Amino acid sequence: MTAPLLEVNDLKMHFPLGGALFGERRYVYAVDGLSFRVERGETLSLVGESGCGKSTVGRAILRLLKPTGGQVVLAGKRIDDMGSAKLRPYRRRVQVVFQDPFSSLNPRIRVRDALAEPINNFGLAKDNAELTRKLNMLMDKVGLPREALGRWPHEFSGGQRQRVGIARALAAEPDLIVCDEAVSALDVSVKAQIVNLLGDLQKELGLALLFISHDLAIVEHMTHRVAVMYLGKIAEIGTKRQIFARPRHPYTEALLSAVPTPDPLAKRERIMLKGDVPSPISPPSGCRFHTRCPYAFDRCKSEEPRLREVEKGHEAACHLNDRDAQDNPLLSGARA
Ligand code: SF4
Repeated sequence: MTAPLLEVNDLKMHFPLGGALFGERRYVYAVDGLSFRVERGETLSLVGESGCGKSTVGRAILRLLKPTGGQVVLAGKRIDDMGSAKLRPYRRRVQVVFQDPFSSLNPRIRVRDALAEPINNFGLAKDNAELTRKLNMLMDKVGLPREALGRWPHEFSGGQRQRVGIARALAAEPDLIVCDEAVSALDVSVKAQIVNLLGDLQKELGLALLFISHDLAIVEHMTHRVAVMYLGKIAEIGTKRQIFARPRHPYTEALLSAVPTPDPLAKRERIMLKGDVPSPISPPSGCRFHTRCPYAFDRCKSEEPRLREVEKGHEAACHLNDRDAQDNPLLSGARA
């Protein structure tokens, strides 16, 4: 059996707060013991409300941040504790597309130079002829005209700029692309085009994608598996079919209730969660979701549910899954 492309084991990202309360240092527990894997050629979507820690996970995998604890293993090698020199070849293999491509494109650098930079940095072209061939190929792949290589970033529309961002990520010939809210800022029609483009590129190049998004509707069209995050932990993880057809965590159920269905007769009852997401500085005791969960019962306040398998390839962290099906409202359809 070959190792997964990416393995994240018990990842922790704790950020110290300035100052101490009664002499005790306090932390933001942004990511607090999170494990998952991504196979070659697979899309795993990491979803949850803003502030749940999903972008911090992306930054830890990219090693833009050094994890506080746990492991990030890429193609069988731990990269969470590597120094910058050793990390270099691994940096090439994991690239990123951010929400705002403008932030990753220097406004004073033409597209040609922005795309040539990773190719030259990683020594991926032996001469100018090969560099030009690669640049032209990148523009073809992302559906932009080759003559646009001579343009400046501000001369592109939002969707075109995101295509340039994708081309820049592809230029490094990665195995994995972290797409951090990569389509969130785009208009609906452009969003669909970029999602389709990512899907096509994935199939053509055998890329793996870690698709970070707050939007389950977008994820449904392009993912293989889904990991739902709440307050720095995974609440549920499974295949797209498992998560969308039969969620086994009340938080996932609530998120899904807000996704419009294409069939107007198949109405979903919207579940409105009470209150706001609690602070990651002092997360609730027991189940972190108990302050907002419509099914919470006494045990939830004191005992933290473990992420455990509820069917093959499907894991959820909720005490309800210890009950028989007829007493589990997630399976019986009875709301508390
Ligand atoms: Fe809700 Fe309890 Fe399940 Fe947490 S463990 S999601 S509070 S029912």
